[in-house]
Amino acid sequence: MPDETAYLIPDKRVRGNGAYTRKRATVLGGLTTVLAFAFVVFVFTRDRLSTTVLPWAASSTSEDPMAVALQLMEHSPIIDGHIDLPILVRSLYANNLSTDSFDLHAPMPAHVDIPRLRKGKVGGFFWSVYVSCPDPALEGPDFLNATWRVRDTLEQFDVARLLINKYSDTFELALTSTDVKKAIANGKIASLIGVEGAHQIGNSIAVLRQYHALGARYMTLTHTCHNAFADSCGYYPGKEPLHNGLSSLGYRLVDEMNRLGVLVDISHTSDATATDVLKYSKAPVIWSHSSSRAVHEHVRNVPDNVLELVGTEDGKKDAVIMVNFAPAFVADPGQATLDVVADHVDHLAEVTGKQHVGIGSDYDGIDSTPVGLEDVSTYPALIAELYKRGWSKDELAGLTGGNLLRVLEGAEKVANELQAAGTEPAYDLYEKRPDLPSRRHQEL
Ligand SMILES: [Zn+2]
Repeated sequence: MPDETAYLIPDKRVRGNGAYTRKRATVLGGLTTVLAFAFVVFVFTRDRLSTTVLPWAASSTSEDPMAVALQLMEHSPIIDGHIDLPILVRSLYANNLSTDSFDLHAPMPAHVDIPRLRKGKVGGFFWSVYVSCPDPALEGPDFLNATWRVRDTLEQFDVARLLINKYSDTFELALTSTDVKKAIANGKIASLIGVEGAHQIGNSIAVLRQYHALGARYMTLTHTCHNAFADSCGYYPGKEPLHNGLSSLGYRLVDEMNRLGVLVDISHTSDATATDVLKYSKAPVIWSHSSSRAVHEHVRNVPDNVLELVGTEDGKKDAVIMVNFAPAFVADPGQATLDVVADHVDHLAEVTGKQHVGIGSDYDGIDSTPVGLEDVSTYPALIAELYKRGWSKDELAGLTGGNLLRVLEGAEKVANELQAAGTEPAYDLYEKRPDLPSRRHQEL
């Protein structure tokens, strides 16, 4: 605790109460002015000083951490990488928004509704248009009959976009980083769309292009199943690999995502897939909802040896790892708390740098939540905890959303460059599909 702050604040209060004599006030007034100026300089420079010469400065403050968090989040609100509201609406309401019981302004059954989003200082999030993996018994091991996954995904795009329109007083569809900033500046919650697994494109890169046209700005390469493009980490240890990372078609999918400006999301992928993507993607990448395997052993978490490929130096890839709150991923049963989630954030930041960490809660997609992070209204408590641990306001502004926006802008830049260079769309077909090549051959 620096004595300067402890001295200045009581001194000002005493002076305001008129306790000084005129003579003492004259003498001390000049000194106070000098010290007050020094204090102001200290306040406005300590965030930068703290990362260089005064590492104690950011954590030693008389400010209430929650007040700091709430004030910071007025300008730098949360942009969450993964919210499962659309699948909740599918499961509980069959995507029918007209029922009397459905009202996002009223308390919703799980973790997300408009009053709690506002209380939690949410400025944006990715609406996950998730549908589950194919059943190999019904749809074949090679996903050749996976077309209803595409139908269901379209229904999830539909419900997400209907919700954004129905509650346009709160939400605004965002297709670019500029849209996100504009929505936040207008007091709206920027609404981005993410697809959670390439099984949802039915093994067709053409379908990805249409999802992009509908607003998708990230696609997770896998969910818990392998697909034609990439290997998943599964959910339990020991999942047998199919391609040992990206398949050859998977590399073309990454090319197309880079060309379109759809962020490559490597949450849910195997370590080999994540490594291939980090080495190959031209654009920055994301983990939309993953935590640290060094803090808690789980295949869904990211190990340090993969994190070491993240960075802006030569041979590394700019990325943001958006921390998942799912209790099973962050701690042993019964041990998940806000503190433990903060440990994940701290560890990821330690390995990659604080500019590579974000928030991807998985709210509405998880059965239970950590103590202290019960729903979308609780993000400020996490930001306050990290402030207490020494994160500066600038660093926290990156964590809440700035880091994600940097990565999204990076992907947009790569897409613009590839398109300006005349890069062709990827026309590649899944080689196991018998229909298109044979039909084309017959027609010719
Ligand atoms: Zn997930």
